[in-house]
Formats: sequence, structure tokens, C-alpha cells
Amino acid sequence: MTRIKENIRDVEEKIQAACDRVGRKREEVTLIAVSKTMPVEYLREAYLHGLRVFGENKVQELVRKYEELKSDGIEWHMIGHLQVNKVKYLPEIASLIHSVDSLKLAEEIQRIGEKYSKIMDILVQINLSLEDSKFGITKDEAEDFIKRLSAYPNLKVRGLMTVPPFVEEPEDNRQYFRELRKIMVDLNAKNIDNIDMNILSIGMTGDYEVAIEEGATHIRVGTGIFGERSYLP
Ligand SMILES: *Cc1c(COP(=O)(O)O)cnc(C)c1O
Repeated sequence: MTRIKENIRDVEEKIQAACDRVGRKREEVTLIAVSKTMPVEYLREAYLHGLRVFGENKVQELVRKYEELKSDGIEWHMIGHLQVNKVKYLPEIASLIHSVDSLKLAEEIQRIGEKYSKIMDILVQINLSLEDSKFGITKDEAEDFIKRLSAYPNLKVRGLMTVPPFVEEPEDNRQYFRELRKIMVDLNAKNIDNIDMNILSIGMTGDYEVAIEEGATHIRVGTGIFGERSYLP
């Protein structure tokens, strides 16, 4: 017995309450079930209870689960650090890549997108806390980076993503969420060709309610749905 059903109900209640607090609609927020390390049966269970968007952080695992779970209407998101040589597995599978943080990676996504005649939706990952363990470009690099990406015809920058530091107190991350939203608004105001971002991927199990209050359009919830991860094989 898992608690997935109860967990989903609980998360849904909290999403709704956060939306209510700031006058947003539930449909404005996409709940991504972060299923990394979890067995496919757990994903099936989450699917059964209504979840349709799954996030993984490793390409191999994403491909394997995609193949095992061929259920209708599932959207797969690549949320973790992406190696250039793994991009080729994604065009048929991933509907959004959250973690673009280098020109090399963007060039490869463009190349593969062109090969498959597809426009690849991506988010730019920004590192706001400047902990060196985190991936992402700095906010000062963001404008130049996005200008470069805007020239790629097979890549579409849909918005921004960040992974804030792990904190005990979710309020401590409000500043980062607010900052990322402001960066997106400011970049949109610069009228860069082909750039009109509307996705903010912020908020994880510990802080998604605050993230919704600060404008999250996508929240990435793992533990809150599937329980604690064990990293043992
Ligand atoms: C694992 C992961 C999450 C989910 O973390 P939880 O705290 O379990 O909700 C969200 N985003 C990224 C990028 C992750 O790697």
C-alpha cells in the first residue's frame, strides 16, 4: 500500500488553497509529479488518480519509464541536468526541457530539433543562490543567453526555472521566486525577437505553496506525492 492517492489529494488541496489566497485559478498551475527513482507502478498509481505530467532528471530513466508506461495523454518533462550527448533521446519523448544552461546544450537541442523537424520547448535554468553545487546560468548572463537562443528556429524559450537552496522554512525561498518572476517580466519587456516567456518553473515539495503565491505556473513535486526517495538500487 502506498499513500500516493492520499498524498495527491493533500497536494491538490494545498495548491487550491494557495491559488485562492492570491486569486489565481487552479488551471494556471501545472503539477509535475517528479517520479525520479520511483518504480513504474507508482507512476501508474499516480496516473490512475489523475496525474498526467511526470518529471524525471535522468534521460535513461525517462526513456525507460516512457516506454513502460505508454498510457494516454502523459506529458514527460526533463527537469534535471542534461548532458549534451543525451539530447538525441528526447525529441519524441520530452515535451519540455527545464534545465537549459549552456550554449553547447542549446546548440545540440537546435540541431536535434532540426533533424526531427520539431520545435523543442525549453526553459532556461537560472541559479539565483549562487551555491556552486547548483546548475544554471547567473541572472547577469540571462539576457545575452536568451538573445543567443532566440536565433535558433527549432528551439523555443518558454520561460525560466530555478532550484532554490534547500531550506527548512519555505518563506526563505519567497525572495528567489519573486526575483525569478521579475527577471522574466524584465526580459519579456526587452522585446527580444521570438521571446515571449510565460512559464515559471519554481516550487518543490517544501515550498510549492509559496511558489504558487509568487506566480509559479509549474511546480515540481516529488516527495510530496511519492514519499521519501531511497537512493539505493
Ligand atoms: C527531485 C527534484 C524535484 C522534486 O523534489 P521534492 O523535494 O522531492 O519535491 C524538483 N525539481 C528538481 C530539479 C528535482 O531534481
